[in-house]
Amino acid sequence: MGNLLELHEVTKVYSRGLINAKENVALRDFSLTLKDDEPTILTVAGESGSGKTTLAMLLLGFIEATKGQILYDGRDISTLEGKEKLAYRREVQAVFQDPFAVFNPFYTVDHLLTVPIRHFKLAKSRAEARDKMEEALTAVGLRPEDVLGRFPHQLSGGQRQRINVARALLLRPRILVADEPVSMVDASLRASILETLRNLQRDYGVSIIYITHDLTTAYHIAKSIIVLYRGAVMEAGDVDAVIKNPQHPYTRLLVDSIPWPNLDQRWGEHSIIAREANEDSDGCPFRGRCPSAMDICSTRPPLFEIGPHQTAACYLYEEKPKIVPDRVSELLPV
Ligand code: SF4
Repeated sequence: MGNLLELHEVTKVYSRGLINAKENVALRDFSLTLKDDEPTILTVAGESGSGKTTLAMLLLGFIEATKGQILYDGRDISTLEGKEKLAYRREVQAVFQDPFAVFNPFYTVDHLLTVPIRHFKLAKSRAEARDKMEEALTAVGLRPEDVLGRFPHQLSGGQRQRINVARALLLRPRILVADEPVSMVDASLRASILETLRNLQRDYGVSIIYITHDLTTAYHIAKSIIVLYRGAVMEAGDVDAVIKNPQHPYTRLLVDSIPWPNLDQRWGEHSIIAREANEDSDGCPFRGRCPSAMDICSTRPPLFEIGPHQTAACYLYEEKPKIVPDRVSELLPV
């Protein structure tokens, strides 16, 4: 079997202003491969401004890459037209942060679910449409009789987000881009929604790209993780290795801010000295905050392979073999 999704050194640059336009590299040389026959859950983690939402927009075809290529089933998504474009839109679905945003307060849940069924001609009759809705709702842990016929204000935040997942599932996606899907959901419901996503991967063979700023949820849902900072990959690999034994100073900072009693590492073990942020685009993007910064860090570090399932873009591992972005996926377990 081949590759379902391939991103090859994808870069997205935004320009601001007409005269003296300033360029902002939102995502730089990002590579990723998802295999056709190995559905997986991959976390892309980072703070706001790390490029993770730009990545989601690129994956969904909402914006185009400035450089690099995104291939779906071997086809460049920027060249898709007609039926192929429609198939891509159907097979790559999104679940966004705000479970309220997709709901029109004047329509019932049935309407929200019927629209994609009609748009993509998924059912030949009302009865078949109803069956599909009920199946999708059940798959995400909802009882159809509890939610069908109801208006958004009659549902909890957790129910709304599950309905969003059901809506995506109706289309039988092969990839689900879940951008902060539980950050606006009550803390008590997060685990069960994450469990639902995991079930979709297992039972329906959907690959999930889980985008988050929250490493605790990343740890619970994903097998592998890519950590972004200012649009660049800082560290990537097996989620267990990266979170329990972070090697990049930025990942250490992120992990160190999690007050988890069950992690081996003690809170506060790694101190990061906050310095003035460094806007220098040539050097390591983390240089301005890094307690280990050296002279060489004024040149952008490549990725170094620091273990069988771990890589970091940091000169602290200069003696390790370098790897090109396109090889990062080989280190990610599925
Ligand atoms: Fe710190 Fe240098 Fe590593 Fe960047 S490359 S994280 S500045 S040690």
